[in-house]
Amino acid sequence: MALDSLTAATATELVSELQARRLSATELTESCLNRISAVNPELNAVITVCEEQALKEAAEADVMLQRGDGGPLTGLPLLHKDIFCTRGVATTCSSKMLENFVPPYDATVVSRLRAAGTIMLGKTNMDEFAMGSSTETSRFGVTRNPWNMDCVPGGSSGGAAAAVAAGFAPLGTGTDTGGSIRQPASLCGITGLKPTYGRVSRLGIIAFASSLDQAGPMTRTAEDAALMLQVMSGVDPGDSTSADVEVPDFRSQMGDSIQGLRIGIPRQYFSPSLDTRMAQTIQAALDELVQEGAELIDIDLPHTEQGIATYYIIAPAEASANLSRYDGVRFGYRCGAPQDLTDLYERSRTEGFGDEVKRRILVGTYALSAGFYDAYFKKAQQVRRLISHDFKNAFEHCDVIAGPAAPGVAFGLGTKTQDPLAMYLEDIYTLSVNLAGLPGMSVPAGLIDDMPVGLQLIGRAFDEATLLRAAHRFQLRTDHHRARPALAEVAS
Ligand code: GLN
Repeated sequence: MALDSLTAATATELVSELQARRLSATELTESCLNRISAVNPELNAVITVCEEQALKEAAEADVMLQRGDGGPLTGLPLLHKDIFCTRGVATTCSSKMLENFVPPYDATVVSRLRAAGTIMLGKTNMDEFAMGSSTETSRFGVTRNPWNMDCVPGGSSGGAAAAVAAGFAPLGTGTDTGGSIRQPASLCGITGLKPTYGRVSRLGIIAFASSLDQAGPMTRTAEDAALMLQVMSGVDPGDSTSADVEVPDFRSQMGDSIQGLRIGIPRQYFSPSLDTRMAQTIQAALDELVQEGAELIDIDLPHTEQGIATYYIIAPAEASANLSRYDGVRFGYRCGAPQDLTDLYERSRTEGFGDEVKRRILVGTYALSAGFYDAYFKKAQQVRRLISHDFKNAFEHCDVIAGPAAPGVAFGLGTKTQDPLAMYLEDIYTLSVNLAGLPGMSVPAGLIDDMPVGLQLIGRAFDEATLLRAAHRFQLRTDHHRARPALAEVAS
């Protein structure tokens, strides 16, 4: 494989090149590092580069490949979102609060991917503490969208999405609390999968909203997502919310036909408020799935509209509890010369957190306070149950639910930062999936004015296999996932 095509190759293609010894892990890693140093100063998708360590790991991978005893991903470079604890490597959550935090251990996702043979190139930028939809709240500056440098890459896993789209690495990790894998995947034209809640261990992932957070793969194809999910999945004794359910062999089922697959089309996702060109692009993608033998069925998700309000009570409530640990005493940022303990708490938190994080802590603390708990938090939990029931009812009539992953294509940098509600609406199609704990995926479905659009597929709990199969059949028929931003051609 020519070196200049490495930045566009899929992980599946690269694995076979590596295993056939037509390509060395060192060559591949060097080409990724070169790409990062050429393009990242403008893109700002990566905030820590582990060059020395990556080259060392690549040399080790080459020895294993030579002996033919590597793991399924041996020699594949990857980037971790900076929310995953990485032993000995700064893990900041893009916050001043954790700017100097160097974890003494690896998140389970990190150790599993390491054991499978991946090479960690570095850590990707994100919204501070994963709160946002544009990667504009990062302590380390905005990440740009490789398709248009004046636009956001989406968020909060915007650094990972931009990095994979720009050819920095074939694989990235992300986390998704309300849409943070699927929405940036949609805006950057890559494949992103949020697994079922409990499928992947949360141990070592800095907590935002514990009942919603879930880690997943960000890749160029569904096949690559399956490759990565296989390694990431499975019960972890260190996370009591990880599920002890069987992990199927995702890739072995991917090629199977989707003849007769019933795809539910929620009326609420295709309301007149959906942009016409978005609706047309998604419809064209659905037509391709019909050509593959799928059947479209109208369904209802009646509480879709309540999703945003429900999420923006539950997620901040859980965040306010999770973020109470940053008190300036045990770890993280500490203000200078505190007068007394109260001053230490107040100033450490005032100086260490950014505005959006503070907004969430305030909203969450309010919703949980004695006088308002019943009116807000309890009510939100009840509506959450109704949203779950909507999906349960829908899945009696269909096997997969489809719709847009985001309301539109990438928007201009700075256009929504002053209007939190407009920003929150970015997740209208994704966050109810987290409230219900289901798996969801965004797959490139075409371009509007040269900017990518993602098709979202939602599945039954623990049925990622069906999502991956539908996505793979779609990618065998179409080449939207092969489209690359012009930047990639200029700079390679
Ligand atoms: N954009 C949503 C929020 O700001 C979701 C973030 C996420 O999934 N981490 O909360």
